[in-house]
Amino acid sequence: MTEPSISSIKPLTRQASIKMEIEAENRIVDNTVVDNRTKRVLAELQKHWINEYHNSREKALVELTERLHQEFLSDQQKIRTELLQQFKEELEQTRNDLDVKYRDQLKNENSKLTEKHRRELSDIKKKQWCCQCENEAIYHCCWNTAYCSVECQQNHWQLHRKTCRRRKNNSSN
Ligand SMILES: [Zn+2]
Ligand SMILES: [Zn+2]
Repeated sequence: MTEPSISSIKPLTRQASIKMEIEAENRIVDNTVVDNRTKRVLAELQKHWINEYHNSREKALVELTERLHQEFLSDQQKIRTELLQQFKEELEQTRNDLDVKYRDQLKNENSKLTEKHRRELSDIKKKQWCCQCENEAIYHCCWNTAYCSVECQQNHWQLHRKTCRRRKNNSSN
């Protein structure tokens, strides 16, 4: 078996290489044409995509802004409601505190007044009153009989003489 000599391969290789070069050149020409067409299509596609991108970005921004605005409004409403609720609770609490305070004060005041009234009543009960004119008495005659003045005692004497115990006691003594 004899191997093919290099000289026998060379022409074939050279031929093939020339053919390939031509094909490659043709392809380059085609590619150039294709490239230009592709570039135009790509450029248009790019333009279209950029437009689409801008449009959808614009739309997304508008939607986002709207959503944020709605969220802001609802947050604000929520905060306002919460503040109002808190304010109501504090007001209620303050009113309850004041009610308790005033009720206590009133109770205190009432018991003080009751005590004062009781004491005054007691003092009044201890006092004696003139049998003639019903002023406070300072002269005591006998049981349940007193006078504010000698004058009253003398004026009352006509009536009192029948029941005066001092006189009876004095007379019996
Ligand atoms: Zn009197
Ligand atoms: Zn008397």
